Amino acid sequence: MFLCHGYASLSATAPLEPFRFDRRDLGPTDVRIAIDYCGVCHSDLHVARNDWQDTMYPFVPGHEIVGRVTEVGSGVSKFKVGDMAGVGTRVESCRTCNSCRRGLEQFCEVGAISTYNSFDKHTGAKTYGGYSEYIVVDEDFVLILPANLDPAAIAPLLCAGITTYSPLMHWKVGSGQKVGIVGLGGLGHMAVKFAHALGAHVALFTTSPSKREDAMRLGADEVIVSNNPSEFIAHRDSFDFILDTVAVDHDVNAYIELLKLDGTMTQIGAPKGPLAVDALKLMSRRRSFAGSQVGGIAETQEMLDFCGKHSIAADIEIIKIQEIEHAFSRMLKSDVKYRFVIDMASLKE
Ligand code: ZN
Ligand code: ZN
Repeated sequence: MFLCHGYASLSATAPLEPFRFDRRDLGPTDVRIAIDYCGVCHSDLHVARNDWQDTMYPFVPGHEIVGRVTEVGSGVSKFKVGDMAGVGTRVESCRTCNSCRRGLEQFCEVGAISTYNSFDKHTGAKTYGGYSEYIVVDEDFVLILPANLDPAAIAPLLCAGITTYSPLMHWKVGSGQKVGIVGLGGLGHMAVKFAHALGAHVALFTTSPSKREDAMRLGADEVIVSNNPSEFIAHRDSFDFILDTVAVDHDVNAYIELLKLDGTMTQIGAPKGPLAVDALKLMSRRRSFAGSQVGGIAETQEMLDFCGKHSIAADIEIIKIQEIEHAFSRMLKSDVKYRFVIDMASLKE
């Protein structure tokens, strides 16, 4: 075992604090990564506060991990010491079920091992996330990073990036299509960049007219203010695809009727309760209402390569680990452009 320093929450009401724990010894196919940067995802906060009623304390958040390889097991072939490397939301899966064989580890039928708040496949111990000094992960779940991008701005690609890229790929978004992105936060700003790079006509739906300029800068072709019904009427029956990143309860039917024949609206934000979907609005144009979550390892690598090729990374604000509670409270107010990333060097301060 190796001693590792990090930050943990010890209960649903306690702020994160310095915490020491053990990481497993390197197995033959393991890579040890010294963490340089870790993105701050909404899930980190949800789990820290036990919003999903399944948190095992102490809890170390962080699943947008970027760092440098400091040690490799005897059988590792993909990485060598000194390489940049990334880890996302999953660190293992059963590898044999139908989903795993299709490269869809996020839908592992046995249950993939999450980077945090899960149980290590090798030791049975709890998994701890990236708000820490280093992490030990099997090389098959470690990503190769594009060399031409700012490593800090790559970190959010490991969750927010793949969560938006995967549905755009699955529903084959491309040129000649009209695509809507609902919400301009950590997820939404990545979705706008990807949909634009894929050649689609991109419309951003937001409740804040003040985001118009920023959305256009990020790649939107138009901005629709979502609490202005008159703006909606003009867009009825016109969208091929709408990606909804909003994680609070909202009226999805107003968007569904903007889809044209056979159009799909996909939910990647997760409101707490069930959403009310008007079946008649689906039936009248053979529309689909769907969901998606992150992406498999192969697709995550494909997304990172795509980002390297198109020079796409997240827009970030760098913070110190000591500022995490302040960052959480700003995140709750959507007061971040567009993702906080922790500079892990601050752990030593
Ligand atoms: Zn996440
Ligand atoms: Zn599986």
